[in-house]
Amino acid sequence: MVFATRFAPSPTGLLHRGHAFSTLTAFEAARAVGGRFVLRIEDIDATRCRPEYEAAILEDLAWLGLEWERPVRRQSDHLADYQAALDILRERGLVYRCFKTRKDLDIGRAPHAPQTPFTGAALPAREEADRLAHGEAFAWRLSLAAAREALGGFDGLDFAEEGAGPAGETGLITARPETAGDIVLARKDVGVAYHLAVVFDDALQDITHVIRGEDLFAATHIQRVLQALLGLPTPTYRHHRLLIGPDGKRYAKRDKAQTLRELRADGLTPQALRAEMGFA
Ligand code: GLU
Repeated sequence: MVFATRFAPSPTGLLHRGHAFSTLTAFEAARAVGGRFVLRIEDIDATRCRPEYEAAILEDLAWLGLEWERPVRRQSDHLADYQAALDILRERGLVYRCFKTRKDLDIGRAPHAPQTPFTGAALPAREEADRLAHGEAFAWRLSLAAAREALGGFDGLDFAEEGAGPAGETGLITARPETAGDIVLARKDVGVAYHLAVVFDDALQDITHVIRGEDLFAATHIQRVLQALLGLPTPTYRHHRLLIGPDGKRYAKRDKAQTLRELRADGLTPQALRAEMGFA
């Protein structure tokens, strides 16, 4: 299969230097081998994504000098695909409804406290029917116990890491989904969540190399399990380091990192930005 990689931003804000570094890393890797470069808009979370951010992303990437395949896949146009993938898991008893609220789970109270991975199971049928009848909100969670059984254990699950994880993990990595617990695959307000959509699309678009920041290394472990459960191929992974700003911290939307748009308005040229990041 021809080398293919992608940049898969969620249009929840304007791009900053960290995104530029990530997308250039992927783009240049594809260009070096005459491979494909795919841009995918990951906008399933309608509560946070905005069309004006999508437009800004396309503008910024063109300014950077990138070219990508068209048409661009926009995940919100394909929700039925992800729903069908979820249905497959549901029919096989691999997911269950979880009615716990953020408060029940203590989410948001102590953001820096280590989160204990959540594991649970379906409620007794009667209680579940009652809650549904009362219109209670729920999320679909992947049951790791059921997944383990379906796959005959996780020991044979691995992925090739050509970059490195945050602790320098590289080479053939054995998937350790246990550290993530029973992840949420679909939320009532959002429909299908990131992990399911991303493995579906990476396979659909024949992505051979997933090149992305090391902050997503942990997600790979769970994505590897989903690939196995859905019979999808596993791409090679190249997680890259995160770009560090002058304050010693990684660039992030929430820290109000200077956006590419602002840098452009200040007169920075794409050539200068590329050079600053070590691209010729
Ligand atoms: N859409 C994800 C994000 O913007 C990235 C997905 C990926 O590269 O796998 O954080």
